[in-house]
Amino acid sequence: MTVVTRFAPSPTGFLHIGGARTALFNWLFARHHGGVFRLRIEDTDRQRSTKEAIDAIIDGLKWLGLDWDDETVFQFARAPRHAQVALEMLKQGKAYYCYTTPEELEQMREAARAAGKPMRYDGRWRDRDPKDAPPGVKPVIRLKAPTSGETVVHDKVQGEVRVSNEQLDDMILLRSDGNPTYMHSVVVDDHDMGITHVIRGDDHLTNTFRQLQIYQAMGWEPPSFAHIPLIHGPDGAKLSKRHGALGVEAYRDMGYLPEALRNYLLRLGWGHGDDEIISTEQAVQWFDLDGCGRAPSRFDFAKLDNLNGHYLRQADDARLVQEVALRLGVTGDATTEERLTIGMPGLKARAKTLKELADNARFYTLKRPLAPDDKARAQLTAEASKVLKELRGVVAGSQSWSGADLEAAARGFAKAKGIKLGQIAQPLRAALTGATTSPPIFEVMQVLGREETLGRIDDVLAGS
Ligand code: GLU
Repeated sequence: MTVVTRFAPSPTGFLHIGGARTALFNWLFARHHGGVFRLRIEDTDRQRSTKEAIDAIIDGLKWLGLDWDDETVFQFARAPRHAQVALEMLKQGKAYYCYTTPEELEQMREAARAAGKPMRYDGRWRDRDPKDAPPGVKPVIRLKAPTSGETVVHDKVQGEVRVSNEQLDDMILLRSDGNPTYMHSVVVDDHDMGITHVIRGDDHLTNTFRQLQIYQAMGWEPPSFAHIPLIHGPDGAKLSKRHGALGVEAYRDMGYLPEALRNYLLRLGWGHGDDEIISTEQAVQWFDLDGCGRAPSRFDFAKLDNLNGHYLRQADDARLVQEVALRLGVTGDATTEERLTIGMPGLKARAKTLKELADNARFYTLKRPLAPDDKARAQLTAEASKVLKELRGVVAGSQSWSGADLEAAARGFAKAKGIKLGQIAQPLRAALTGATTSPPIFEVMQVLGREETLGRIDDVLAGS
């Protein structure tokens, strides 16, 4: 059997972090089994579905590297097929026309409210002859659901979950305007798309009972179900924006790498021993449903930052240079890109996100004269300037411009003057970077090159 999974987002908002995890798990499961991963846009809610949301979902999946197979399916376009199946069920006696008026439904709702019970349709048209239909009422089509026994989900994560059929009323399949209900569309689509495994958030577990009844009525083989616990905030409460309930594009803008986010999302609800760092290749090899936990996972930015730092250090320098250049708006500036390339090993060792990396790299891209920040300016005292001037004289004639040789020269100079290296390094850093933190300063000199380094020192001396 070929495994076929799907991601079925409703395009009513961005691709949020929970949706991205669902997509990832379905993608991994399909790839692990050499199967097929499909995308279905559930755009049946015409009021709330937007083109922007569809684009955001598609961009988000692409950015995350979750490629899907076959054509994207748009649910709304399949409404005629959904209607056809409902009519087929009608023909087979598995469904019936229901002519209950809105007033009657309101009465049922009132009675349920008064009794403190959830509203259940009472099945009044189940066995009634449509010839009795009141004039002017357009019927809905309802499922003739079983009235006794149980519906059982053998869930791959939650275990066996059952509900008494008495608790489920005859749900609507086709509305009076001929449009299918969401519950019905999902089943028809999953069946027609050959879905073998449905992996989704456990907020859909209760839908599964109803969906199974539709499979049974049609005599279709249902897929396997796996309902994964939702993601909560670090305090255990429902995930809020502050806690990370953001669109995938927000994570991209904050400077997370897609491979880091994949690793992080994988660990939110799936485990393999004590492994924390799991590459995507490894995840494809290992992923199974047994590894999905049953407790809700907690979103933790600190963990995500650590993982991202790890993947940043592993990332190809040329790629990071492009990312940083893009963020700093200096793409295509050859001198700056070359500086960033030479400086990247030192920069990436110290950053957790691309944003931080770009912030730390900014001084390499600035045009002279720099505008030192307040702390840096405080370092540039008259005394410090004197030291800088002398140091300039020492290094200007240096044959080599390697960081190591420059450091040796600076140390020799400090020793001869009887001062500490820090008394040189601090003003030098202020002059060369405009800040008080940076990669090692002799590395900075090497990256900037002789001319730019001396120029930046001269700017400070000229201003003092
Ligand atoms: N469209 C549903 C959602 O976005 C998912 C339906 C499903 O996975 O069955 O929550």
